[in-house]
Amino acid sequence: MVNSACANASTSLPELDDPIPISALQHAVYCMRQAALIHIERLWEENRFTAEGRVLHDVTDEPTDHKRRNVRRVTAMQLICRRLNLAGVADVVEFRADASGEVAFPVEYKRGKSKLHRADEVQLCAQALCLEEMTARSVPEGALFYAQTRRRVIVPIDSELRRLTEDTVQEFGALRAAGRTPAAIYRAERCHACSLIEQCRPKAGAKSAAGFRARAIDVALSANAADDDW
Ligand code: SF4
Repeated sequence: MVNSACANASTSLPELDDPIPISALQHAVYCMRQAALIHIERLWEENRFTAEGRVLHDVTDEPTDHKRRNVRRVTAMQLICRRLNLAGVADVVEFRADASGEVAFPVEYKRGKSKLHRADEVQLCAQALCLEEMTARSVPEGALFYAQTRRRVIVPIDSELRRLTEDTVQEFGALRAAGRTPAAIYRAERCHACSLIEQCRPKAGAKSAAGFRARAIDVALSANAADDDW
């Protein structure tokens, strides 16, 4: 039986102590350095890909709870998982009626199309793990909806994906606890779509964007000092 208090979009959830954002796991699978730059060093740069993604998410940003036939559809649903110390918001969760109550089915909206890496699937799986804890029922699958192809891709929440998701939580959690940003590893297919390529400078092998920022400030200050002298 689903816990309807947890499944209600307007219900506030108990606070966790500094939870890992579910979105950080998607960044971490894409590139652990990107996750550290965004969630540890607090850098964010919008590019065409992130802007398109933000516009797409605006469609599902409003909390709603509607029922049609045997499916209740909740948008912008708050999620938490105490076991993994995760928190986030699901674009859409469909609650499908069955003989025992309702089974949650998360749907995450994405720009573009299905990708070779598993970042989107890990984000969806983290939502499923939250929903399992919140509803005390298994979540066997979910879906990724891609705007470019306008297709729903069904994703089984299988043991391999669960392991990858939990390993990513552990790895990113350890990095965050240490406050450490890994060095850049240049991979053309990922770096050229990355909104942080300017700050990261992956080909230069910069270890810390904060260090890059500090050096840039030093250079600017010395230039100003030279201007003053002149
Ligand atoms: S530019 Fe490349 S190495 Fe740097 S954060 Fe982005 S994906 Fe990672």
